[in-house]
Amino acid sequence: MTITYSYGKNLYVNTTNRCDMHCDFCLRQSGDGVGEADSLWLEREPTREEIWEDLQKRDLNAFSELVFCGYGEPTYRLHDILWVCDRVREISSIPIRMDTNGHGNLIWGEDVAPLFRGRFDTVSISLNAQDRETYDRRCEPDYENGYEAMLSFAKEIQTYVPHVVLSVVDCIPAEEIEACRKVCEDIGAEYRVRVFGS
Ligand code: SF4
Repeated sequence: MTITYSYGKNLYVNTTNRCDMHCDFCLRQSGDGVGEADSLWLEREPTREEIWEDLQKRDLNAFSELVFCGYGEPTYRLHDILWVCDRVREISSIPIRMDTNGHGNLIWGEDVAPLFRGRFDTVSISLNAQDRETYDRRCEPDYENGYEAMLSFAKEIQTYVPHVVLSVVDCIPAEEIEACRKVCEDIGAEYRVRVFGS
């Protein structure tokens, strides 16, 4: 079972395969693994202790960033991840990032954004579309108000995390990439066009 895996200069942490979305471009549909990981499908979710144990086998100083990402939406494991971040902070100054679909508040049914303070240096949120209709078609969120909740989280999390990114994949039409840039400017986050598959 792969809990941590390196990819480029970063070390990634795979905590769950749960997700409330069904994105057209989800990497999970096209392969089982990323980077050095042959498979990111988990036979069961690792406990917080197992995640921490796995991380301790790594030389954190050898990586540029520690990223909670993997084959699922990490905020399903938010409280375990926060616990792990606190352990990491005790032994390393490695920058910590979470890649998320921005639905943490929906998933937990409460405002979890303040919990990110002091734990994360960067939060990267998948914007995916310039409007709700496109988002719903492209990502099929389980939550009816997924798009609005994601935008609201992207605004709010800037109070608690110094570096907030909104991203799209470069396989969407060029005019949509530009329309998303405008949405991102309005939110006040950094905009990133990700190469599909990275
Ligand atoms: S939010 Fe991420 S993990 Fe979930 S379906 Fe979309 S691309 Fe896949």
